Amino acid sequence: MNLIVLGPPGAGKGTQARILVEERKMAQLSTGDMLREARRSGSAIGRTVAEVMDRGDLVTDEIVIDLIRERLESADSPGGYIFDGFPRTLAQADALGALLDDLDVRLDAVIEMQVDDDALVTRITARSTCSGCGEVYNDLTKPIPADGKCSVCGGTDFQRRADDNENSLRTRLMAYYKQTSPLIGYYHAKGVLSSVNGLGEIQDVAAEIRSALG
Ligand code: ADP
Ligand code: ZN
Repeated sequence: MNLIVLGPPGAGKGTQARILVEERKMAQLSTGDMLREARRSGSAIGRTVAEVMDRGDLVTDEIVIDLIRERLESADSPGGYIFDGFPRTLAQADALGALLDDLDVRLDAVIEMQVDDDALVTRITARSTCSGCGEVYNDLTKPIPADGKCSVCGGTDFQRRADDNENSLRTRLMAYYKQTSPLIGYYHAKGVLSSVNGLGEIQDVAAEIRSALG
C-alpha cells in the first residue's frame, strides 16, 4: 500500500506515519526529515534551504522532487511508502504522479488530517523531538517519560525545532492554505482522498486512519 498523509503543520502527520511504519512495515518518506538531515550534514542543499525553512516558507519544488526521486529509485519497500510532508504543491503532486507511474507503483490513498488552527499553535509550541531517533514528544499530549529517557531509543537529548515558533508557524500555515490545501481537491477528484479528524488522542486518530484504509 502507498499513501500520502496531508495536513497542516502540527496535524500529527509524522506521528501517524511512524505508527503505520510499525504496523505495516511501510517506509516513511518525509521531505522535512530529509531536509533537516541535509542541514545537519552541512551539504550544499542543506545550506540552501536553511533560511527558507526557519522562516517557514516552502523550499523549491525542484529540490524536494529530486530528494524524493532519489529515495524512490534507490529504496525498496515491500510494505509500500508513506509520503509525509510531500507533495506540498500541485507541481509536486504532478511530479509524484509521474514518478510513481514510471516505477509502476500505485497511489492507494491520501489521508487528510483535519486540525483547527488554535490547536496547531498549542501543539507546535509544546513539541520536541528525540535527537537520537526522531521520536516526537509533546508536553501536553505525549510528554517525555518521567525518567527523562526516550521510550524508543533511551536517548536523553530532546530538541525543539527552529521553525516551531509562532512567527514561522504563521508563515507555515499560510503556505499550507495557499499552496498545499489545493491538493485536497486534486486528490478528491482522483478518488483517493479520505479525511480524518486529527484532534483526538493519538491512538484514536490511528484507529480512524486504519478504518479509512480498510
Ligand atoms: P511541518 O509539517 O511540521 O510543517 P515538515 O517537517 O514537514 O514540517 O517540514 C518543515 C519545513 O521543510 C517546511 O516548512 C518547508 O520549509 C520544508 N519542506 C518540507 N517538505 C517540503 C516540500 N514537500 N516542499 C517544500 N518545502 C518542504
Ligand atoms: Zn529516541
